[in-house]
Amino acid sequence: MATAAPTHVLLVSFPAQGNINPLLRLGKRLAAKGMLVTFSTTETIGKDMRKANDITDQATPVGDGFIRFDFFDDGWEEDDPRRKDLDEYLPQLELAGKDALHQIIKKHAHEDRPVSCLINNPFDPWVCDVATELGIPNAILWVQSCAVFSAYYHYYHNLASFPSETEPKIDVQLPCMPLLKYDEVPDFLHPSSPFQVLGRLILGQFKNLSKPFFILMDTFQQLEPEIINYMSKLCMIKPVGPLFINPKAPTTSIRGDFLKADDCIEWLNSKPPASVVYISFGSSANIGQAQADELAYGLFNSGTSFLWVMKPPQKDAPFKLHVLPDGFMEKVGNRGKVIQWSPQEQVLAHPSVACFITHCGWNSSMEALTLGVPVVAFPHWGDQVTNAKFLVDVFGVGLRLSRGLAENRLILRDEVEKCMLDAMVGPKAVEMKHNALKWKRAAKEAVAEGGSSDQNVKALVDEIRKRCAAVTSTSTTQ
Ligand code: UDP
Repeated sequence: MATAAPTHVLLVSFPAQGNINPLLRLGKRLAAKGMLVTFSTTETIGKDMRKANDITDQATPVGDGFIRFDFFDDGWEEDDPRRKDLDEYLPQLELAGKDALHQIIKKHAHEDRPVSCLINNPFDPWVCDVATELGIPNAILWVQSCAVFSAYYHYYHNLASFPSETEPKIDVQLPCMPLLKYDEVPDFLHPSSPFQVLGRLILGQFKNLSKPFFILMDTFQQLEPEIINYMSKLCMIKPVGPLFINPKAPTTSIRGDFLKADDCIEWLNSKPPASVVYISFGSSANIGQAQADELAYGLFNSGTSFLWVMKPPQKDAPFKLHVLPDGFMEKVGNRGKVIQWSPQEQVLAHPSVACFITHCGWNSSMEALTLGVPVVAFPHWGDQVTNAKFLVDVFGVGLRLSRGLAENRLILRDEVEKCMLDAMVGPKAVEMKHNALKWKRAAKEAVAEGGSSDQNVKALVDEIRKRCAAVTSTSTTQ
């Protein structure tokens, strides 16, 4: 007897590392539960992903299912200068993306693996329009915290007062949250943010919020219980995180890095337990040369060992790669290591790592929290400023070193040094480690068989299969 073809889910990601990682991780979870997953983003990024990872044109087995990749052309040459301007690029991505998605979906239907569900992230809300046009069930993966989701929701529906041109410094009170200072609200919503275009893009998903049948989130019930309960009364929220932990396929080598990770594990192996500070500002934040100098000297003066990711700026970014002060690494010797990209989950899981100076991107925040690593919060923009507030004041795992780009302040070496010492030794360090280990245990329970996030992934799989069966039976009875 012929076995039924696996249900086919198409994931479409906005071309940014912080969007690709969680969506690909969701894809691996779905594949592990027996689905065929096709992951799609732009060809420009696909090229980097192929170079940096084990990505082939074949479907790769993951758990009981498979994952494959289908990249699409966004219609512009790679070196087109208009890519630098998001106001120009985003409409182009939507135009070319919608067209490409129609083609991809048609191709799969012809090849006898029709797409049963489309899942996107909130930075490409136009995918929901394609799903509606073609009558394909659609879910979204919100790639930030539920607190940040609530902030955008309340802003979009005008349910709370936010900073405005006339009142730029008001605090914001949202249900089930501590009071957010004006600079702790996701800063793309702030009238003075130079990146309001990204705020408008995300708000585009809120305009489209009635289309997806589920709003999946890379968070977990125990981490944000009141906010999740509150927002669940308003939307079909399903926390499924932390997605980077995949108990059913822990060893899969499929990754979505844009750069090949440098080897640093051997170096970490040579260090005593809990002795190294790991520093990374994610895939796009850039702290500037003067700040990098102060950070370097602060670290040096604190006497700790450090592993620092200095990622080369993206092709279209107007920044230069940081350089360390002349003779700095000679002075530091084997106490410090600088790399261009790290295998971050492996680094954070390493026993030598004591704490993480982070820009507080949500993926990095989740990875640190749930691997039991305390943080020093150095947010830059967007949701990072809100995540910093939660890491420090709500989750109890962080010390604050910066308030974000809007603060426009050079954090001097003495402040860095003091913060590092407080984060590594003494009562605050002990308390943060204790809390981080508590979140690590809670996350493990959430993703384990029968845990809250595992149940939500199962609910997603069941819902996709149910909707797929309904579409098939309608089309066969017509
Ligand atoms: N990352 C990594 N190696 C690095 C730096 C970052 O693998 O050297 C990964 C990290 O684990 C996370 C993602 O890149 O999954 C960055 O996402 P995040 O939301 O933290 O920040 P963004 O890049 O979106 O600002």
